[in-house]
Formats: sequence, structure tokens, C-alpha cells
Amino acid sequence: MAMPDRLFEPLPGGKVRCTACARYCVLPPGTRGFCFVRQNVGGRVELLTYGRVAAIQIDPVEKKPLAHYRPGTRVLSLGTAGCNWRCQYCQNWEISQKREVGGDPLTPEQAVRLALDHGCSGITFTYNEPTIFAEYARDVMRAAHRAGLFTNFVTNGYLSPEALEFLRGELDAVSIDLKGSGEPGFLRKYVAAKGPGPIFESMETLRRAGVHVEVTNLIVPRVGDDPEALRSLAQRIVGRLGPQTPFHLLRWHPDYRMLDLPPTPIPTLERLHAIARGEGLEFVYLGNVGSHPFGHTYCPSCNALIVERAGFALRSWKLIRSNECPSCGERIPIVGRPPDHYLPTGPQPITGPGNAAVGANSPARRSGR
Ligand code: SF4
Repeated sequence: MAMPDRLFEPLPGGKVRCTACARYCVLPPGTRGFCFVRQNVGGRVELLTYGRVAAIQIDPVEKKPLAHYRPGTRVLSLGTAGCNWRCQYCQNWEISQKREVGGDPLTPEQAVRLALDHGCSGITFTYNEPTIFAEYARDVMRAAHRAGLFTNFVTNGYLSPEALEFLRGELDAVSIDLKGSGEPGFLRKYVAAKGPGPIFESMETLRRAGVHVEVTNLIVPRVGDDPEALRSLAQRIVGRLGPQTPFHLLRWHPDYRMLDLPPTPIPTLERLHAIARGEGLEFVYLGNVGSHPFGHTYCPSCNALIVERAGFALRSWKLIRSNECPSCGERIPIVGRPPDHYLPTGPQPITGPGNAAVGANSPARRSGR
């Protein structure tokens, strides 16, 4: 497929089909798509949030979560308004679900300058679904690469093949964010997605393209914690992406419109962890649980403890040479090594062009990622 220079197709009668995500909204003249930020203006799709940032923050890369990519580094995290999903428990609903196109201006060059000024090694697109602002993200990523920074999407994976082509060569790492193990009934009822097919296709396409892929799975108690759905997902990841794909089981907390369920019990996560390991996944982590033994990395060959974490912070790094286990010599698939001094835990505010209000009010301050 030739790399597209735009994410829409003209249709008869002045309509357009948006191709930025797997919804493929058809937009009559003057209307906006499901995400509310892409509009048919004169027979073209216009991204209303281009260069308008609704949330921005400095984070440890472990918060994305990326456990096997550039550990111990910090990233500039940013997001815009709108989303192509309707998660009923969204932690960032104030920017993702309000039907307002807000945000403070930030050019790609300003984003890179902020990242460099705050000692970041990369830029992450997160808080809302990045594919809906792919044109802006691509320009920021190109500027980031020119400056030697890495790039990362935290994405629900509901991308179109056209968007994957549009972004080809720009992404270094992705965290694909499944919910409820991608079980179709859960996706339809709680996030308004038709099914998991596009998510699986996206993760496999990205892996084939050489992008570093980690998979997360948000476990919602009672309605999204089915062990057989988790088993099926683990089998699929082992078969299609490989057993060394990092896999994160995330604890859910009530928010937005789902306030009637408790946080995911830790024993539930531990049982699912055992299933994922039993199906052959070698690096399975628990997330949003603070310090927990399953937040560490263990050698899949000899079970030695090789990387210790406390929440989002690295506490010890025992790998030697080219990230090999000090006990048995097994090569551990982690890209990069931590800097000489590890990051402090937790997000940090930022200062700089175009973000004073965002820095003060960002809903991302209380978000998981
Ligand atoms: S990005 Fe997705 S939800 Fe938004 S207009 Fe395009 S197809 Fe629709």
C-alpha cells in the first residue's frame, strides 16, 4: 500500500469517509465524526484539534506502561480532546468524552523543545486515542526523531490499515490497551467498539513493522474478568506476537459513569496472571497495584529476580552486558538500559510555551497513564 497523505476518501454528494480509525465514519458536508474532532469542511476532513493539547505532563516511561523499552527514562506525555471509544469508566473523560474542542496551542517544534528542556528521551501520545489526531501526531513524531527522541502511542488499537500506513516509520513503541481481554460483548457494551478484530490486526501489523509492542489488558471486576477470555487472549498473543511480548494486567478503578463496582481485587489479577503465565507468556506484569512482586521482571529461564520496580520507579537493575541474566546468561528482550540515576516516582509538572493552563488543570494529573 502506498503511504497515504491524507486520512479520508471523497464520496458522492460532498460526503467524505474518514479513514483515521476502524469506525470509517461517513461525514455529510459540515458534520463531525464519532470522535467529534474530525469534520467535513468543503469535502475534506479537517482535524479540529491539530496543535491543540488538552493534557500534558512529564512521566516515567514505566507509567505508559512500557516495561521493556528504554527503562528509567522520562517522556513528555500529551493528548488532545475527543476519542473514538466511549469507555464508561474513562479516567480522562473530561477531555475524551466532552464534546468540546478545547486545548492550548502547541506546535510540533514546541513539543520537542519542552521534551528536551525537561530531560525527556521520548514523546508519548496518550490520555485520548492518538489515531484520531494522527496528522498532528505524525508531525510531532517527525520533529521528535529529528531531535533524537523516541516516539510512543498508548492506543486502544482501533486503528485502520490506512492509519497504520500513514504512521509507518514514525512509531518506535506502542502500548496496545485492551479492555476486558477484548471479549466482544464487553467491547460492545462498555466501550462502544464493534469487536476486537482491528485491535489484533493493528498489533500484528505494528510488530511486523518492527515497532516495539507491549500489550495491556484492563480487568474490570465481574464484567470484564472472564478467565477463559483472558486465556484466549494470552494464546493469541503467544501465537501471533510471541511469548516474549510484555503483557500487563491493569487494575481498574471506578470512574465517570461506572461507579457501582469496586476496584479490581488483587487476587483476581493474581489468578489471571497465573493463567497468562501458564499459556506461555514469559513477562506478565500487574499494573496500578503499587509495589507488588508481579511488578518485577524475572528471568524466564532460571526465575532470578532481574529488575525490581516500586510502582513506576526502578529500584534495581541486575542485568549484565547486553541485558543478560546475571545468573544463567539468558538474553532478556529489553530495549536499552536505564540511565545512571533512576527517576523519582510519579509524574512531574512542566513549564514552557503554551501549557500554563494545561499544566495547572490537566485531568491527566489524576489519570492512570
Ligand atoms: S477518527 Fe474514527 S471516530 Fe473519528 S471521524 Fe474518523 S473514523 Fe470516525
